[in-house]
Amino acid sequence: MNLARFARRRYTPGATPIEPMPHLTKALGGPELFIKRDDLLGLTGGGNKTRKLEFLVADALAQGADTLITVGAVQSNHCRLTLAAAVREGLKCRLVLEQRVPDSYDKTASGNNFLFDLLGVEAVTVVALGDDLQAAMEKIAADLAAEGRRGYIIPGGGSNPLGALGYVACAEEILQQSFADGVAFDRIVVASGSAGTHAGIVAGLIGNSAGIPVTGVNVRRPRAEQEANVLRLAREVAALAGVVPEITPAAIECRDEWVGPGYSLPTEEMVEAVRLFASLEGVLLDPVYTGKAAAGLIGMVRSGEIHADERVLFVHTGGSPALYAYQPLFTGDAAF
Ligand SMILES: *Cc1c(COP(=O)(O)O)cnc(C)c1O
Repeated sequence: MNLARFARRRYTPGATPIEPMPHLTKALGGPELFIKRDDLLGLTGGGNKTRKLEFLVADALAQGADTLITVGAVQSNHCRLTLAAAVREGLKCRLVLEQRVPDSYDKTASGNNFLFDLLGVEAVTVVALGDDLQAAMEKIAADLAAEGRRGYIIPGGGSNPLGALGYVACAEEILQQSFADGVAFDRIVVASGSAGTHAGIVAGLIGNSAGIPVTGVNVRRPRAEQEANVLRLAREVAALAGVVPEITPAAIECRDEWVGPGYSLPTEEMVEAVRLFASLEGVLLDPVYTGKAAAGLIGMVRSGEIHADERVLFVHTGGSPALYAYQPLFTGDAAF
């Protein structure tokens, strides 16, 4: 595997830190917990999409694009970061926002939605759950072409094989840091959504014969469906990156016990996890992704499924700018 073969823009100066979480470790009485601070990646507000965009935007520029087009939920971190990359590169950006919860789009909402406006999005198209997202993006690309412009379509979450290379690179970064610090991890826990992050990490670890299992915590889909999505993308990105060993279904584990009623809908376990990380480690999670992934981590520690003698790395995939749009969940003003 030789990632240097791929064109890449750089949006983060160096590696994100891996930090111990001693207070959370003590509070849970168990496994030694560490956190990979991908919330500190570059571009506005940080988060996992920055790593994917380094490869995707390099491709957009190579193709002569002047406008990035992508899709996400109404509080999408991916849309915020795609827009931020466009601003950085002097490109325009148009967004398709999918109302995964009916009527969830609020033009005046805080969080990422506020940042879409502040960062200067060129146009927002709001669609309903079940609408053809690819068709909506292709329509925008056709409109641009009619004006003599060139759009570049980035799939939801930046999760195609090229974007997932960002997390193959992250797996290599984790292995280097782990070796340099003399800290070997027994397991990695990460949120699993559009699957590029989970798939990229698995492919990168297997490409390095690291022998570290990865537990994905779903934020939207049932287990079997998500495992199939992650396996497919892990195999595609492995082929692109030149990973030799075969990726077997046994390498893909997705847990769906912490999704709750659905994507972006709150759970008590999520609220507790967000509070614990903030009050014990000073780390801000988000309600949609990392709060649920951390709830999964905490749940698996409490049940004993993650053993007290393990050393676990939790990948913080970002999202804290969305937290402000969900404030009522934490002040007791919203029921769930
Ligand atoms: C998109 C996102 C994820 C999920 O990553 P995927 O690659 O889509 O699976 C996790 N955390 C945050 C904060 C995100 O924005």
